[in-house]
Amino acid sequence: MKPINEIDAQQPVSRRIFAGAALAGASLFGANAMAQTRQEEIAGRKGKSTSDPGPENKTLLGENPSSNMPPFTDHGNPGPIWFSFDLAPKRVQGGGWTHQVTQRELPPSKDLAGVNMRLTAGSFRELHWHTANEWAIMLTGKARVSVMQPNGKMFIDDVGVGDLWYFPAGYPHSIQGLEDDGCEFLLVFDEGNFSEDDTFLLSEFLAHTSPEILQKNTGWSREVFDQLPPTELYIFEAPLPGPLEDDKRFLGEHLETDGKYTFKMASMPPTQKTLGGEARVVDSTNFPVALNIAAAMVTIKPGGLREMHWHPNVSEWQYWIKGKGRMTVVTTGAKARTMDFNENDVGFVPTMAGHSIENTGTEDLVFLEMFKTSRYQDVSLNEWIARMPNKMAEAHLRLPESTIRSAPQNRIAILPK
Ligand code: MN
Ligand code: MN
Repeated sequence: MKPINEIDAQQPVSRRIFAGAALAGASLFGANAMAQTRQEEIAGRKGKSTSDPGPENKTLLGENPSSNMPPFTDHGNPGPIWFSFDLAPKRVQGGGWTHQVTQRELPPSKDLAGVNMRLTAGSFRELHWHTANEWAIMLTGKARVSVMQPNGKMFIDDVGVGDLWYFPAGYPHSIQGLEDDGCEFLLVFDEGNFSEDDTFLLSEFLAHTSPEILQKNTGWSREVFDQLPPTELYIFEAPLPGPLEDDKRFLGEHLETDGKYTFKMASMPPTQKTLGGEARVVDSTNFPVALNIAAAMVTIKPGGLREMHWHPNVSEWQYWIKGKGRMTVVTTGAKARTMDFNENDVGFVPTMAGHSIENTGTEDLVFLEMFKTSRYQDVSLNEWIARMPNKMAEAHLRLPESTIRSAPQNRIAILPK
């Protein structure tokens, strides 16, 4: 039978030859597919076996060839490890937009959820608070952020590209785009089920309290109630603010002067630097307010590899900022999955699963590793093997000592050294 996408095409001779070969293949390997040896799996990928004469989504295959045709070492299904913000619908309002990748899009991601938001110059994300802690990084442009502590002191600062902020759950805060073209940023929340559509809003607290109580609470006249926004503002346009110093002067003694809610990640010295790239780790040890979300910003040069490792405490949620790469995740029960990642994609590694990432592009690859923890931790496979006494290592790896010890004897976060 012809493939459905070639119903009107003349069947080429080569296809008839292929059909015969496929039948022969079925009798050789099909019956014992579950018991294939490694040699058979490799052999099965030669010749016509991997051809796909039926319909193909060529655009998708071009972006993610490994998802469709995995390396022979992939096996079983460890669950989804990929999604993309470019598949997440935008909620657009005058002043910008927001969209999110949460547990609803990536079901195993119970620890963290991400929101990507754009605010044009002057536009606000309405004053609000929520049940999750909020970690953020500025991707383009500038914003003014404010957060009030329960003790009545307000922190206010301007953030630019590569700057972070961290707002504890329940603390009311604001984000406003600045000149020239506002901003775009990534928010990460320590609740997989978080939704940007379920936050506590200033407008709704006022609109859903009776006018009589509002009058007693504020001293404003009854007419004021009718002038307040009757429904949420969420994202809206507003005039640009004055200089930051003016806002700080207005706050006076109520200004929180400790710069603890923002952090300059892009300009910090690398935590580790090798020939293959560099990593910057930000957690509660250098950004003390970030008590429940830790981050590593990783740059891998073309051909470089984020070494085989795992995190002993938590799952990993990734945001891919720049370049192209491929990740393999190996979990229990011989389950392994390899996928390709591009700019604006989200990656996920189940708790404690082994993984590695290679730069498969021609420019630097930059991505964020995010964790629901106060302290970043990883275990390096190379370092572990290096610490195994010779007889222990030889018994497990079935290799001579000289080969085993030719591997790096310490952790090298990004190879080559
Ligand atoms: Mn928020
Ligand atoms: Mn990792």
